[in-house]
Amino acid sequence: MKFDTVIIGGGLSGLACGIRLMQHGQRCAIVSSGQSALHFSSGSFDLLNNLPDGTPVSNVLAEYDSLAKLSPKHPYSKLGKETFQKLISESETFFKNVGLPMQGNGMKNHYRITPLGLLKPTWLSTAHLAISDFETSLNWKKVSIFNISGFLDFYPQFLADEFSKLGTKSEIILFSMPAIDHLRRNPSELRSTNISRILDKPEHKEELVKVLKKAASDSEAILFPACIGLDNRDIIGELQKEINKPIYLIPTLPPSTIGIHLQQYLHEYFIHLGGTYMLGDTVKRAEVEGGKATRLYSFNHGDIPFIAKNFVLATGSYFSQGLIASAEKVYEPILGLDVDYLANRPDWYDKNIFETQHYQSFGVKTTNTLNALKNGNALDNLYVSGAILEGFNPIKEGSGGGVSILTALYVADRIVNKEGGIK
Ligand SMILES: Cc1cc2nc3c(=O)[nH]c(=O)nc-3n(C[C@H](O)[C@H](O)[C@H](O)COP(=O)(O)OP(=O)(O)OC[C@H]3O[C@@H](n4cnc5c(N)ncnc54)[C@H](O)[C@@H]3O)c2cc1C
Repeated sequence: MKFDTVIIGGGLSGLACGIRLMQHGQRCAIVSSGQSALHFSSGSFDLLNNLPDGTPVSNVLAEYDSLAKLSPKHPYSKLGKETFQKLISESETFFKNVGLPMQGNGMKNHYRITPLGLLKPTWLSTAHLAISDFETSLNWKKVSIFNISGFLDFYPQFLADEFSKLGTKSEIILFSMPAIDHLRRNPSELRSTNISRILDKPEHKEELVKVLKKAASDSEAILFPACIGLDNRDIIGELQKEINKPIYLIPTLPPSTIGIHLQQYLHEYFIHLGGTYMLGDTVKRAEVEGGKATRLYSFNHGDIPFIAKNFVLATGSYFSQGLIASAEKVYEPILGLDVDYLANRPDWYDKNIFETQHYQSFGVKTTNTLNALKNGNALDNLYVSGAILEGFNPIKEGSGGGVSILTALYVADRIVNKEGGIK
């Protein structure tokens, strides 16, 4: 099977890269084992909330030079300031153009509301997600928080308690519907994704409108658990029109309907552009000759190789098994690429879980142009993007989404500029 580019891994980074390449006329395939980090995502993408030394960041560009000095191997440092800045605004345009409008921009963080009601800085939040413009207050004086009776992955009282500290009053409204009662017979079925599949259906809209109209007339917004809009995103806008009040979603505990919606949407968009997506297939090995990757072999395709001019490794970190940690080493399992990690295992982690955990910054070594390194040599046609990269700590810094998107677009542009644009 011959393609212009084959991407290994179909999470946020692989999909963004694939879509960008298809938009430039490349023939592109994504081979992906299964679920990605998006299935557990908050629905917001972080760009950079803290410098590696813990200093909070309010203006990313103003802090860029400090970041580059503290972490020269950070993916953002490798991109260089000008490209970094350009890619931030291109990422924002990217989502708009694919039909996924986002709230927020790279000039200033806004705040997402966690399932426990805390405010966390972030860069981009999906439409309809509840956000705040401020760190110490919410955008409303009074809200109505709805929940489904017996739904245990959402805690309205925790939210109300935290909101009260921020000066916002809450009323809590529990409701049930016959269609959802059917799920309640088995508590493990009452999960956000299953509920969404019911609430998204047009035949339940009228009943849901009746429920939402119970909100007090002086409440400024309805806050609803993110268990709606998985397959039918329009439903939220339609409900808003009927009840004449804004509706915002608050993330529930996983699985994340917002993240799964993002994954499904980007996947379908890639296919709509003509891309080939091999879901449920795992790349097991690759051949390298003369400083280039030449062929990939997967479980499902046996001896039939994937041949391409360029390859992108976007297999994620430990969570997706892009990186594997054994008792002695951290390694990249497909190509045996060079990995940046500490030789002494006890140095990988700190027993105090609130301290920096070094293992979170381990990743595949690359050149400044994100070409993979193998035995110290750069592979000319193998690029690396997303969570598998070395040199950044997505949790401590709050930079996971930003690194995945920016490096995906960067790698796609490198390939397009090398191979030429639309054919
Ligand atoms: C649980 C979790 C929640 C997160 N939440 C957020 C958040 O809310 N906001 C934020 O900004 N960041 C978050 N992050 C950081 C996250 O890493 C990035 O936001 C981003 O989603 C990572 O995307 P990725 O495509 O690089 O990797 P992944 O999403 O990990 O995707 C890698 C893909 O590669 C596939 N794969 C792996 N090996 C192979 C193989 N051999 N062959 C074929 N396919 C393979 C996997 O199946 C997977 O689909 C979270 C991370 C985790 C782990």
